[in-house]
Amino acid sequence: MDDIECVGVVGGGQMGSGIAQLAAVHGLHVWLLDSHPQALQKARDFISTNIHRLISKNHLSQAKGDETIGRLHFTSKLEDFHSVDIVIEAIVESEDVKKKLFASLDGITKASAILASNTSSISITRIAAATNRPPQVIGMHFMNPPPIMKLVEIVRGADTSDNTFNVTKQLAERFGKTVICSQDFSGFIVNRILMPMINEAFYALYTGVATKEDIDTGMKLGTNHPMGPLQLADFIGLDVCLSILKVLHAGLGDNKYAPCPLLMQYVDAGRLGKKRGLGVYSYP
Ligand code: NAD
Repeated sequence: MDDIECVGVVGGGQMGSGIAQLAAVHGLHVWLLDSHPQALQKARDFISTNIHRLISKNHLSQAKGDETIGRLHFTSKLEDFHSVDIVIEAIVESEDVKKKLFASLDGITKASAILASNTSSISITRIAAATNRPPQVIGMHFMNPPPIMKLVEIVRGADTSDNTFNVTKQLAERFGKTVICSQDFSGFIVNRILMPMINEAFYALYTGVATKEDIDTGMKLGTNHPMGPLQLADFIGLDVCLSILKVLHAGLGDNKYAPCPLLMQYVDAGRLGKKRGLGVYSYP
């Protein structure tokens, strides 16, 4: 079994910064790359704040916290990934952009490196086809926020090798996660089921069935979910939800996945959820 010592994370947004933190806390050297300098600085601040919080709560000793921070490197140059053992990609949910990135990663990383995508819905088989190493391409789908949520959904593309699957699974388990395995169909397991519920909650709001608060309270107390679907959509990011629904709609070819016009309007208006301070709810 291959030993993973160094990981490259692409995309320093909500997911990438959490994945980088998780990997560093678990003893890996991490290169975190973002194409936007502001996003990279935000990721650095976010991780540093989180690690200092872990230290202040005695979840991490000062020495271990310092070591963790010392294992993290921030960059805007893909060339810095030349020696990583695995890349975990967490950029925008766009097939074209991801394919372009994977083609570049294929040219830069060492031949043995695994290229994993944190995509919520996009075909791993098609992303893999943009590279010359489809057996080493896999979906490694963390939940939000990655340091807290217990699940990793691993997605096997048509050509993903058993070795790639085993190494990726072992890595997720090293992070303390429970692994589920999905075949490569749009939305995989979790979003195939979650996104239609979120979309239906938007339709309920759009058609005036109830207020946002009552829709969320109904699902929280009525079905024992820790948060309602509209609040959860704000946490995920309304742009991310819309992208996933479009992938489900196109990939599964059923109108039941057509995104609600209200969700589309919020995204058009820049109401992207908690990360922007405004989505279905506002976050002062
Ligand atoms: P985000 O918008 O918070 O962050 C994306 C980051 O990627 C941004 O900082 C952006 O600057 C950077 N980026 C975009 N294109 C890039 C490129 N070509 N090269 C380098 N950096 C680039 O998005 P997010 O919520 O972190 O989602 C990222 C991925 O994770 C998506 O594929 C999404 O579907 C998936 N995901 C999201 C969630 C969630 O709850 N938000 C959960 C699981 C998986």
